[in-house]
Amino acid sequence: KKVGKINNSKKVIDIGDNIKIGGDNFVIIAGPCAVENEEQVNKTAEYLNKLGVKILRGGAFKPRTSPYSFQGLGFKGLKLLKNAAKSYNMKVISEIMDPRDIENAYEYVDIFQIGSRNMQNFSLLKEIGKVDKPVLLKRGMAATVEEWLMAAEYIALEGNENIILCERGIRTFENYTRNTLDLTAVPIIKDLSCLPIIVDPSHGTGRRNLVIPMSRAAVAVGADGLIIEVHPNPSEALSDGEQSLDFVEIKKLIHEINSIKTCI
Ligand code: PEP
Ligand code: MN
Repeated sequence: KKVGKINNSKKVIDIGDNIKIGGDNFVIIAGPCAVENEEQVNKTAEYLNKLGVKILRGGAFKPRTSPYSFQGLGFKGLKLLKNAAKSYNMKVISEIMDPRDIENAYEYVDIFQIGSRNMQNFSLLKEIGKVDKPVLLKRGMAATVEEWLMAAEYIALEGNENIILCERGIRTFENYTRNTLDLTAVPIIKDLSCLPIIVDPSHGTGRRNLVIPMSRAAVAVGADGLIIEVHPNPSEALSDGEQSLDFVEIKKLIHEINSIKTCI
């Protein structure tokens, strides 16, 4: 198996410009759930850059539960995201849902994100496996660790072994939180796989006030980083406002994490 733990060696993913995920590095990826407009994404990038964040997230193609909800700005959103990132020398991560969009998205993203709902979209996995840019593979919300690793295997078999896993919470009977953040997945993945794993406490909890405590916990269990939703004004966000941190909160998170771990 390509993503298994071979000779105990761990994979370090090179994002370029000396940004690496895995190994001794701890990465913080942050940005809005969705790119909404130029001002929103520029303000967010500017602020995150000041905090030392090097990778900007932002959804352009949004897999919304309801077809009537905001679906994202598509390629217009990707361009806004890329421009904002470029101004501050940041890298871009964004979700692609349709294999037909991979080619056109290539110039705008540094990391392709495969969302939870597409973790077992095997044709998408195979196409992304042919690309020479890193992939963030989120855990399916009802996927076992084995199924998740097999999904990564689909990507790796096509040639792309630069895969970062992301625990983003699973469905359980508990509905106080949006999902149940399964932090046991982190040491399990470390045991079974050579791939780095980061944690998404935003989707993992669905609640802003739980994001900082679960980020601390992610560090404690040995995660390689975090991906955090941030919005200049969460109450006005077009998606996932309840779980998005404002600028004061992300600053607090980064300061707290910095005090226990060296971040990039
Ligand atoms: C996201 O990170 O934008 C997202 C939609 O997350 P998930 O696929 O984990 O639901
Ligand atoms: Mn979101």
